[in-house]
Amino acid sequence: MSMADGGEMHEFIAALYPICRSITGNGVRTTLEQIKRYIPLTVHEVPSGTRVFDWTVPKEWNITDAYIKNADGKKIVDFHRCNLHVVNYSVPVKKKLPLAELKSHLFTLPAHPQWVPYRTSYYSESWGFCLSHEQFLQLSDGEYEVCIDTSLEDGSLTYGEYLIRGETSDEVLISCHICHPSLCNDNLSGIAVSTMLAKMLSQGTHRYSYRFLFVPGTIGAITWLWANEPQVTAIKHGFVLAGVGDRGPLTYKRSRQGTAEIDRVFAHVLSRSENKYEIVEFSPYGYDERQFCSPGFNLPVGCVMRTPFGHYPEYHTSADNLSFIHPQALVDSLTTCLEVCSVLESNRTYVNLNPKCEPQLGKRGLYRSVGGTPPPDGVDGLVLLWVLNLSDGKHSLLDIAERAGCRFTDVNEAVKLLVKHGLLRECRESFV
Ligand SMILES: [Zn+2]
Repeated sequence: MSMADGGEMHEFIAALYPICRSITGNGVRTTLEQIKRYIPLTVHEVPSGTRVFDWTVPKEWNITDAYIKNADGKKIVDFHRCNLHVVNYSVPVKKKLPLAELKSHLFTLPAHPQWVPYRTSYYSESWGFCLSHEQFLQLSDGEYEVCIDTSLEDGSLTYGEYLIRGETSDEVLISCHICHPSLCNDNLSGIAVSTMLAKMLSQGTHRYSYRFLFVPGTIGAITWLWANEPQVTAIKHGFVLAGVGDRGPLTYKRSRQGTAEIDRVFAHVLSRSENKYEIVEFSPYGYDERQFCSPGFNLPVGCVMRTPFGHYPEYHTSADNLSFIHPQALVDSLTTCLEVCSVLESNRTYVNLNPKCEPQLGKRGLYRSVGGTPPPDGVDGLVLLWVLNLSDGKHSLLDIAERAGCRFTDVNEAVKLLVKHGLLRECRESFV
């Protein structure tokens, strides 16, 4: 797979789309197997009944079939045509019942009469079907046969993890949820971008270690935090990827800390891009940043989305399909995440080795116009002056870029030039 190729990511999503995922079960395992075609995941199984903080790992759910037949014996709703037709985590049922009774188990979207809603019932045992409102209105009185062939038994919760070891044990955590059935933006886009990001990062060497999680939403993140509590202090930055394939602008939701380095890096990278973007403040509702940012952990973990969930009508419906996501949007999300990782990698602190008055740049061939024609190496004179002035061992390169109002990459280029000329050295103690 050529990594920044949106078409390939879209094809990966198309391959995952038919799988009926849930928070547990074989759909998750099959999905992790598919991800393993690109990156070497470690798959963990946590037994049902395990207490994880205030939660309990649920029984494992698997489904083989589900349908509704009318009085003529014709299947009018068929799980094999669309896995959203079954309320996810429905208990097994096989019986005949009149329409009036069946109706209390049917869910539709009157505002979007052609779409099938996505419903779950993870933590209370019940059953139901989802169908288009158009079809619902056509149901005639009479007896119906319902069959939901599922199992809800002791088993395990499955999640995948991939650690790319860097030069230090400090970690960047990147997490996505893997529990939704045939829905593309939420959550297959996050899986595809995460997988490609992991694959691309695995091909280089890095200062940070990168830990990728592929977990069922909420209970998966809680289980991971429970199982890894002593190690979470290694997480220095992180973000959750969710809903990154629609055509809306990129949206970054700040971590609970609000001004963590990851929050500032996303703000910087997005503000310097040519595309529209949004930055929203933290709130305790959303994706798995809720768990990573719970007060007992308070990790610097934000969330990367495009249109925020709930702000597009296709959210949690059959209209969140393969045509709702766009290859270019996937590429834009991936590219932005790569740039953020690149800034994190390079964001260090330096010391000016000639701090008493300005060094004489002319005799080093570094004297250049400020704001005029760019020099051949592309490093603007004003950026050199900012780097020299603020490199006192207290300001990181991101601090300098923010204060000088210029691109991080330009600051980084200026640093390389000044280091080459012996005017700057890295302040090692800044990142121990
Ligand atoms: Zn969702």
